[in-house]
Amino acid sequence: MSSNVISIQSVSKRYGSETVVSKVNLEIQPGECIVLVGHNGAGKTTLMKLMLGLTRPSEGRVEVLGGNPAFSAAVAQRSALGYLPESVAFYEAMTGREVLSFYASLKHVAASECDTLLQLVGLGDASKRRVGTYSKGMRQRLGLAQAMLGNPQLLFLDEPTTGLDPLLRQHFYQLIDELHKEGATSIISSHALNEVEARANRFVIMKAGVVVACGTLDELYQLAALPVSLKINVTPGQASLVAERLGSEVSIAEVNNQSLSLSCFNGEKMPLIRRITELGEVVNDMQIIPPRLDEVYKYFMNQEVSS
Ligand code: ADP
Repeated sequence: MSSNVISIQSVSKRYGSETVVSKVNLEIQPGECIVLVGHNGAGKTTLMKLMLGLTRPSEGRVEVLGGNPAFSAAVAQRSALGYLPESVAFYEAMTGREVLSFYASLKHVAASECDTLLQLVGLGDASKRRVGTYSKGMRQRLGLAQAMLGNPQLLFLDEPTTGLDPLLRQHFYQLIDELHKEGATSIISSHALNEVEARANRFVIMKAGVVVACGTLDELYQLAALPVSLKINVTPGQASLVAERLGSEVSIAEVNNQSLSLSCFNGEKMPLIRRITELGEVVNDMQIIPPRLDEVYKYFMNQEVSS
């Protein structure tokens, strides 16, 4: 039996003549944090809705926790899912506590859980205030509390930090980290590449409904074959001499009085590092700077899509 919590096999979704998700294959293991990235309209929300059973595939098979999420018989399974949609709209006249209690009753979750969750997301003091008086950040946190009701095994968060200030973003990810420690699996759609870079196990890069790349950051670096940068610090005044000793075949992007920026492809990295160490004490420090997620993303966005 498969140990995957989610299995997506050759899934396509069409609206009329438009294919918005095309032949997607994706297997997700328990405890993973998967980040979906792609421009607006790439199909991220649709893929999430397919996993949530909110829309059905035109072709292919979606299995979540061993069942088809779109079947009404899968209600018990659905209570193991938490979903924070991209735009959260709550009834403005209700208090935060009332909103959460309403969702708790829908999910058959004890009302007593609401106060704990409201405290956890930092809305304890505001729980008796009407949602109409809440800021964007407070609404988003109420949305997260709603998604966390019933301690879900699977969390789907669509652009969860849009509109949050940096401090709230940090707090938000701390909450997600806590859920991961308890074994939850999360699927997050995000445009904030620098924010999710260090958090995800794997990234799914989507373009025009197609998954153009999927893997850990390391796997994506390898696939994209982007150059690695090396910065070496040398004895002041010696940088030009070091550049000469490295030879013309080494790609040198920048030389300052006491530092040099080099770049090489992954396979050339170790030979280059050996050459640098052979230079002796003139080199006093070295940093290896791998490509960032935004560079990897840009690379895949510039590739032709074959759907
Ligand atoms: P993303 O989340 O990456 O921004 P979406 O999944 O929301 O992308 O949308 C992908 C494409 O599907 C868009 O072109 C969008 O207009 C289209 N789309 C989404 N939902 C519907 C729908 N219910 N009917 C018709 N087209 C839709």
